[in-house]
Amino acid sequence: MKQILNASEIDPNKILPIKYEWARTHYKAGVANNWVPEEIPMQQDIELWKKKGGLSDEERRMILWNLGFFSTAESLTANNIVLSIYRHITNPESRQYLLRQAYEEAVHTEMFLYCCDSLGLDPDEIYNMYNTVPSIKAKDDFVVELTKTMLNPNFSTVGKENIQTFVYDLVGYYIIMEGIFFYAGFAMMLSLLRSNRMVGVGEQFQYVLRDETVHLAFGADLINQIVEENPEIWTEDFKKSITASILKGVDLEIAYARDALPKGILGLNAETIKEYMEYIADRRLERIGLKKVFNSENPFPWMSEIIDLRKEKNFFETRVTEYKNRGELSWE
Ligand code: FE
Ligand code: MN
Repeated sequence: MKQILNASEIDPNKILPIKYEWARTHYKAGVANNWVPEEIPMQQDIELWKKKGGLSDEERRMILWNLGFFSTAESLTANNIVLSIYRHITNPESRQYLLRQAYEEAVHTEMFLYCCDSLGLDPDEIYNMYNTVPSIKAKDDFVVELTKTMLNPNFSTVGKENIQTFVYDLVGYYIIMEGIFFYAGFAMMLSLLRSNRMVGVGEQFQYVLRDETVHLAFGADLINQIVEENPEIWTEDFKKSITASILKGVDLEIAYARDALPKGILGLNAETIKEYMEYIADRRLERIGLKKVFNSENPFPWMSEIIDLRKEKNFFETRVTEYKNRGELSWE
């Protein structure tokens, strides 16, 4: 029988019969969502970015902060997958997905390079923002801290406490990093896109969001599977510590949003972003079988529309690519 962890007697090259259909479903969703940054024209963005007074200082700051965070976050995620998660998850159908996800993270890093190139940004400055901007550094440090145990070559997932450590870290990667730390940025960049500004960068973020939604869904299924097969780890104390970790992530994300957008623009301000993060956090908690905490309403129903709309064309007045018609997405 296949099992998700500690399956040492099972051949990692034997994918059939598939036991975890969810892993295959997410793999297929990833393939259906295929895109590359170079297909999205950046001409309008370049003109607006370079035009004197084309964007307000607040808008510029917001764009730079988001590119600054995403620039390092994408490769951080890729490294986590390849260097630690892949080592411990030997199940072949899950590994198929991890390979796909690693590729998508490479596309996201490429997207960032493409934006820097198009807008003529200084890569040193952007890449250094995780050092120079405290609210970005706080998020990155939080995630790097979570990799420490898993990256230790002597770490194994045998035993209740080790499985708990592993699941705790998976929650850090998949639920907090991919499911919370990207979302204030998505809301900011997509609200710019909705107002028809920086449409190329906005569309790039939209595709990244679609990918991240699947990453998050895979992560949640993986976590739930581990818990299902190892019910002894799911103690009240452990649930509390995971919830606390997610709430800490929410705090960091709200602080980051305040910093990226001190005055607020386009109907976005610190208060609405806070509400949005709380709404998102409740959904993430419930997705992995934990109780929701905030009961906040979604202040940006258009975000769900963007995520849910997969077949409709032209939901922004921007160019439509055929990927949108083929895409697969469900809101987790
Ligand atoms: Fe990504
Ligand atoms: Mn991702």
